[in-house]
Amino acid sequence: MVVVKDRKDIESRDVSCAKEGCRDKAISLSEFCWEHIPNKEKYKEEIIEAVLEKKLKRFNLHKAVLNDVELARADFREANLTQTNLASTNLFDTDFSNADLVGADLSGCDLTGADLSGADLTKADLSGARLWHADLSGAKLVEANLSAADFWQARLCDARLWRADISKSLSLSKKSFQCKEKRFFTNYRVYEDGYVAAEETYRNLKRYFISEGRYDDASWASFKEKTMEKIRLRKAWDMKYIPMAIMGLLCGYGERPQRIILSSSFIIIAYAAIFFLLKSITASASNAFSFNFGDYIYYSVVTFTTLGYGDIIPKTSTIFRLIAVSEAFLGAFLMGLFIFTLARKYSAR
Ligand SMILES: [Zn+2]
Repeated sequence: MVVVKDRKDIESRDVSCAKEGCRDKAISLSEFCWEHIPNKEKYKEEIIEAVLEKKLKRFNLHKAVLNDVELARADFREANLTQTNLASTNLFDTDFSNADLVGADLSGCDLTGADLSGADLTKADLSGARLWHADLSGAKLVEANLSAADFWQARLCDARLWRADISKSLSLSKKSFQCKEKRFFTNYRVYEDGYVAAEETYRNLKRYFISEGRYDDASWASFKEKTMEKIRLRKAWDMKYIPMAIMGLLCGYGERPQRIILSSSFIIIAYAAIFFLLKSITASASNAFSFNFGDYIYYSVVTFTTLGYGDIIPKTSTIFRLIAVSEAFLGAFLMGLFIFTLARKYSAR
């Protein structure tokens, strides 16, 4: 076996396996790939010691089988752990930031407090893993097996969960996706640059939250799903973008009832301004009097709510009547939409 004298030596190592005809790279602390190491038990002891004493950096442990061992607080930053078997390993507080864990077996691991930020966990098996307080921000979990993985207090901002199996995951919530950057509003999101994958991810999250009875979180996921759909329609020049954008603006795709109150207030004031500028109203009683802007607001509200007291009426002109009628239509539509959105948001789905 090759004895590595200094850290630099291993960091720049790019040695092929010593076995003739093998095209794999030699793994850390050995001149062979895992498959061709003669004494695997002895190697296992040596590598575990090297990991725990932090003798090396950027390990290459491709395909190695190191399951059911103690590796707490190990330094696996930028390590190559592709297809490595670490099942049932104690990886408490281990640093996996930017590590390559494609296809790795981490099932049943204790990853409490582990740093998995930026790690590539594509097709990794995390079933039954404990990820309490783990940092998975920016991690790639595409097609990962996350069934019975426990995400209590884990951070998943900007994580890619496309086609990951989350249906049986534990302790996921909207809060898991909280991003830390300082902004006016707290941001909750998965990785959104690939908007098609993000749309599907949010749809999966919505289903998950509904099955868990977390309707507020489902509402967030649904809003995000529709936002991604809107981006997709816009990029495809699809005409469905227009009603989508309007619904987003009016009621947050049925998830934001407070937006309807805002848009209703805006419409009432806008119509009052139009009536005011066109001087389009008159008192129904013959005694003429002058209107102030408050009267225009009052008339606009009475029209919007389709109350129609009739103390103030549009002047006899087709155009003035049409404007008033259009406001009544909008009012009836928005009030219906408001009830629908409230019921949708606050009742069990
Ligand atoms: Zn080999």
